[in-house]
Amino acid sequence: DQNLYLTLKSGFPASPDAPALETESGAVHSYGDLERASARYANMIASLGLVPGDRVVVQIEKSPEALFLYLACLRAGVIFVPLNSAYRRKEMAYFLGDAEPRLVVCSPAHEDQFLDLAAEAGNPAVLTLGDHGDGSASERASTMPDHFDTVARSGDDLACILYTSGTTGRSKGAMLTHRNLASNAQTLHEYWGFVPGDVLLHVLPIFHAHGLFVACHCALLNGSLMLWQPRFDVDRVIELLPRASVFMGVPTLYTRLLEQEGFDRALCGHIRLFVSGSAPLLSETHREFERRTGQAILERYGMTETVMLTSNPYEGERRAGTVGFPLPGVELRIVDNDGKEVPQGETGHVQVRGPNVFPGYWRMPEKTAEEFTDDGFFRTGDLGTIDERGYVHLVGRSKDLIITGGYNVYPKEIEGWIDDLDGVKESAVIGLPHPDFGEAVAAVIVPEAGAGLDEATVIARLKADLANFKVPKRVFFLPELPRNTMGKVQKNVLRDTFARQMN
Ligand code: ATP
Ligand code: MG
Repeated sequence: DQNLYLTLKSGFPASPDAPALETESGAVHSYGDLERASARYANMIASLGLVPGDRVVVQIEKSPEALFLYLACLRAGVIFVPLNSAYRRKEMAYFLGDAEPRLVVCSPAHEDQFLDLAAEAGNPAVLTLGDHGDGSASERASTMPDHFDTVARSGDDLACILYTSGTTGRSKGAMLTHRNLASNAQTLHEYWGFVPGDVLLHVLPIFHAHGLFVACHCALLNGSLMLWQPRFDVDRVIELLPRASVFMGVPTLYTRLLEQEGFDRALCGHIRLFVSGSAPLLSETHREFERRTGQAILERYGMTETVMLTSNPYEGERRAGTVGFPLPGVELRIVDNDGKEVPQGETGHVQVRGPNVFPGYWRMPEKTAEEFTDDGFFRTGDLGTIDERGYVHLVGRSKDLIITGGYNVYPKEIEGWIDDLDGVKESAVIGLPHPDFGEAVAAVIVPEAGAGLDEATVIARLKADLANFKVPKRVFFLPELPRNTMGKVQKNVLRDTFARQMN
């Protein structure tokens, strides 16, 4: 039996009284509570007539019950489909139509909207779950027995459908099997040296791979306590860091911590591991963090379709600006446009294969076929290179690659040069349609307060160091870059905004 829940459970502490979750208000849920509550929710799911393979769409705020519901879906063998709580009605209509759930669990405030939408989407049952364990789902579950025989699953059965972040286009439903998730959880748990007594400070949303599969799975497999925060609140994090040993965040969380005056070595003294991912961590942030705290952030790389792919080492050098080595069991290669492996040090498309790689996109067989090679490698859509010591460097997404007058320009290279200029806080380099060059390089810069930079100065400074075709033809300034919930820069938004201004 390869039910992911059983894999996670193999790491639960011997004593059911051991704490699993501590909420914002200080309430503690033990591992025994977690087993009983997930059993009640699993019984509720079964009582509604759902059978293994049915989908449960969930759009709720983060709470202990949200985690119990996730585990209940695994136990009942139904497919868990979490959705970003920021999605609005029209977006939800797409997801419901695509996933065709038999059950929707939503926030009480959205019940009417979902009842409406349900009528157009095969009439799933609609139940509610609020931030504080209120709602019809928990009421119903509370009347259920607190024992449930976890349904047997094979490794190939689907555990979740997780929609991609939609950074490069419409979100796609990535089907993830019990084997994909269990194998990755075990790999990370070992690679990152989890030990008894670890406490995870959990501030990420749980509708995304980072918060759900990386953070929760590692902690559960370790039988650890999670300090379960509904969101990232910088003051709360500062208050809780001294009690935690592991922290996982996206790069913007690290820059926000660094903006706090009291954020220093002493505050982080109890932490043995800071993990970053989901978007590139600037080398500068990595170095500044190390200077302030004495700790090197461990950066890793993954995607919804593959869970985690590479990681900087736990022991050994964590190289700023790299995403480390392919994880054990993950094959990673860099190929050219013809699919031929490039020599070490050259840039190309990142392709991967391994037990963590998903079987395909939900109801998109053609898209799935396009994204896999004949020998079973998945085309990540990322561009990268491997350095002489085997560290993987990502240089951007192939969709963001700029081809200007026949030359390839990698945005990350130019961003690096721009970020090094005085007065630049951060930057994004994009390609914009251009009548002569096809695409022209353009830069969007977030200046530091009072920097007084202007377009001509930036261009002049870059001309001193860069070949002409790499120098931005236009430079725009913004107070901040558009980012989605996971801190990813939305280059498509920038392209749309500035496309008309290129002449
Ligand atoms: P969509 O596929 O819908 O366009 P998305 O690719 O942003 O959205 P995710 O699956 O959440 O959706 O993100 C995976 C991507 O995030 C990777 O392909 C990679 O581009 C980026 N990424 C993840 N970790 C890192 C990292 N450490 N450094 C740089 N990029 C990263
Ligand atoms: Mg993607």
